[in-house]
Amino acid sequence: MRCAIVGSGLAALATYATLRHGGLRPEEIVVLGTHEDPTEVWRTRAASIRQTRMRSESEGHLAAASFPGLAVREALRRGSPAPLLRTAVNRYHPSVREFLAHAESVRRHTGWDRSFRPARVERVRAVDGGFTVDGEGPFPHVLLATGHPGLARPDDYPGAVHAYEPHEYASKVAVVGAGMAAATEWLNALDAGAEVVSIRRREPLRRPLNVPRRFFSKRGLARFHASTPELRAATLRELSNASYPPGATWDEPLRRAEAEGRFRVESSPNGTASWNGVQVIAATGFRRGFRNDPLLADLVDAHELTTHDRWIVLDPDSTVPVLTDAARTLSVAGVAAQWAFPAADTIAGAKYAARAFKRRVCRTH
Ligand SMILES: Cc1cc2nc3c(=O)[nH]c(=O)nc-3n(C[C@H](O)[C@H](O)[C@H](O)COP(=O)(O)OP(=O)(O)OC[C@H]3O[C@@H](n4cnc5c(N)ncnc54)[C@H](O)[C@@H]3O)c2cc1C
Repeated sequence: MRCAIVGSGLAALATYATLRHGGLRPEEIVVLGTHEDPTEVWRTRAASIRQTRMRSESEGHLAAASFPGLAVREALRRGSPAPLLRTAVNRYHPSVREFLAHAESVRRHTGWDRSFRPARVERVRAVDGGFTVDGEGPFPHVLLATGHPGLARPDDYPGAVHAYEPHEYASKVAVVGAGMAAATEWLNALDAGAEVVSIRRREPLRRPLNVPRRFFSKRGLARFHASTPELRAATLRELSNASYPPGATWDEPLRRAEAEGRFRVESSPNGTASWNGVQVIAATGFRRGFRNDPLLADLVDAHELTTHDRWIVLDPDSTVPVLTDAARTLSVAGVAAQWAFPAADTIAGAKYAARAFKRRVCRTH
């Protein structure tokens, strides 16, 4: 077996599709993960906040080749140029349903199910000839795609439901947080007829959701890679600050609800103390950093990998420098790969790591 992919989410599927496109057969790849359906974890989170449109554009797809993107696929399927016109002005956001149908088709056509094995991997070790994965192997090439290391739950709201867990809305809802999930939940709860309190310590940042374009250009990325570790970490910290996009779509419903007395902002839960049966929703994102991921923490300790703050230090091609050479590859994809690519936790980021991994695997093929 040449390759092991650890984790079985969207980044794993993007990598699998890329390797298959590069000529590897299903028998040469094993995917060891907790979910046979690679969309399950993401789909549940997106459904919980009632996301119906992708945040990404046409290129946010899982197939190996860039072309055709989702806009072309939808245009062909519907026999309508509308998706193409929208993507020409960067305003095409495929529906979640469209994206999931596409993911299902990639899963089917690539043979994912032939390579998938259910497992929660605890230990990856470098050995002669590659890496063992929970004692199995050695695999010359391994990509770790374990996703976010769990949901962040604020200590002061022990009974809260997390925004990324399935939930309905009570008639009185307090939403903790000030990012995209929080903003989505204010509108969801108001739509459901609830009275809503936004609990936040500071005014939310308003900026477009996506990591700025410059980090996708060769030159911008080269500048990021050339910066000092301190600067790089500061950039990543800044990019991970909670924010949601500017615009009337968000502001108008909130203004109306405020005028009706159905929406207000508090800096602490004190103002809601008198509420009976208030539902607290924690829109507080994910736990952060490799230390919260037992597999990554164990790997870092066992091989004394270089880290900076909460990040594993990676080469620009998303590989672990001391464990990667001409004969073997240890790659990281997803949020844990931000040191190599600031937008690692997106579908575009998954493909960045996947393509670099394929180049190394195929070099020795
Ligand atoms: C609500 C929401 C909406 C988003 N919308 C978009 C969007 O529109 N466009 C976009 O580009 N991005 C979007 N993103 C960001 C991004 O695409 C997701 O975070 C994506 O799920 C990342 O994929 P992943 O494979 O890294 O992680 P996941 O999809 O979480 O998959 C990781 C998998 O690995 C498993 N795993 C973990 N540890 C182990 C282990 N030790 N052994 C075996 N398996 C393990 C996990 O259980 C899980 O199944 C969104 C994110 C969220 C939360």
